[in-house]
Amino acid sequence: MPVETALPPAPDVAAVIRTLRAAFDSGLTRDLAWRKSQLAALERMMVENEAEISEALKADLGKPFGEACTAEIDFVRKEAAHAQKHLRRWTRPQRTASPIAIQPGKSVIEAAPYGVTLIIGAWNYPFQLVLAPLVGAIAAGNCAVIKPSEMAAQSSALLKQLVARYLDPRAFAVVEGDAEVSTALLAQRFDLIFYTGGERVGRVVMAAAAKNLTPVVLELGGQNPCIVDETADLAVAARRIVWGRFLNAGQICVAPDHVYVAASVEARLLEELTRAVTTMFGPDPKQSPDYGRIINPRHAARLQALLADGRAVTGGVADIDACYVAPTILTEVSADAPVLAEEIFGPILPVLPYDSLDAPLAAINARSPALALYAFTRDKATADRIIASTRSGSVTINDVVVFMANPNLPFGGVGASGMGAYHGRYSFETFSHRRAVLRRGFALDASVRYPPFTKAKLALLRRVT
Ligand code: NAD
Repeated sequence: MPVETALPPAPDVAAVIRTLRAAFDSGLTRDLAWRKSQLAALERMMVENEAEISEALKADLGKPFGEACTAEIDFVRKEAAHAQKHLRRWTRPQRTASPIAIQPGKSVIEAAPYGVTLIIGAWNYPFQLVLAPLVGAIAAGNCAVIKPSEMAAQSSALLKQLVARYLDPRAFAVVEGDAEVSTALLAQRFDLIFYTGGERVGRVVMAAAAKNLTPVVLELGGQNPCIVDETADLAVAARRIVWGRFLNAGQICVAPDHVYVAASVEARLLEELTRAVTTMFGPDPKQSPDYGRIINPRHAARLQALLADGRAVTGGVADIDACYVAPTILTEVSADAPVLAEEIFGPILPVLPYDSLDAPLAAINARSPALALYAFTRDKATADRIIASTRSGSVTINDVVVFMANPNLPFGGVGASGMGAYHGRYSFETFSHRRAVLRRGFALDASVRYPPFTKAKLALLRRVT
């Protein structure tokens, strides 16, 4: 069960940043062999500390061992391995053409590190959400301050220990703490801020960054709609939706938040969803080793309150002290129910019938774009229509969540679900500035560009530039 842990004393954030800036200015992080060694150390850190990491996740979130392995340990390990494998290619300067006016000249685009970066994470995937961006920061040659969420206290403490033990302390530091520490960090000047969390704090981060003109990447949340039409394989759709909705007890930013289902197949889908819950978590999910817990009693109580509207076809019960909320499928939910008004971020799935696809599409487009949009259909024209007529950070047809596991796809939101993207090469690009490098010699210093300008000279200049 999650435990409340006292926070460590507030660190001197300015001193931490001074150390990192000195390392960056020394050129330490620009060396490719050093970057590779840090990525290899990060990979080793995940492999050698599987037991400690999964125990911390168990303590913070009751996270099942399998989920700790796949979504946190293996995820970060694979990102670090992928970056090592491709680093040389990613960092190779890209030659590009030079127009005649600047000939002879050699134009190159170089991926340059920003400098000292700040990575602020949320509590639901306490390792993945700070270490996957860190892979990008390292690969691109940056220093980084990592601020894990104080709400996953055991994970935060372990991150601090492990990063200090495995990574170069001149370039990387974990600063633990709550909103106050986060605020103190945000008052400092960073060269890039990478934030994962809710929309409200995302605005605070962006406003703080504006004071120093620091670029921001915001990985936010919101409601992810899912459509199931009458042509879908309902059993497969139900299994995939149940898996994605109840992973980490629903505390996942890309979980399907609610399902719009064609009214003609609603009853069958509800049956299949209920069957899938029982198959995966047994008759009493509270006893299942594969079902997690809510981060704290406050959130468990918030979720319990959301159960007030609608009829639970399965679940519908909560034990606040145990941070348990049963995997719940809701039907007969009223249009103005709180469960539809906000991001649920918990194990509750409202199912909403529709008569015409126009209705869910209109509802989806009336909201700000989601981080993830899902649709289950056998009809290619329907899939194409859904993709073409909506906006979202990502869209997946006939599955949920798994797009995240492809390092070749960018992961990020649009509009209120965020800005910027990462994973795989996109992490490297996000943490790199595309620097224009033009090299010229002293030959052919044509006088045409210099004043005084005659009419003929200007005409020539305008032709060649
Ligand atoms: P949160 O916004 O409460 O906190 C995130 C981080 O911000 C924590 O490290 C916290 O200490 C810090 N923080 C809190 N208040 C602050 C303040 N006033 N000023 C500065 N920093 C502050 O978010 P959360 O509750 O930890 O996470 C849940 C949200 O995150 C959900 O909306 C979820 O969808 C979203 N999320 C998004 C992604 C993604 O990849 N897009 C991943 C996980 C979670």
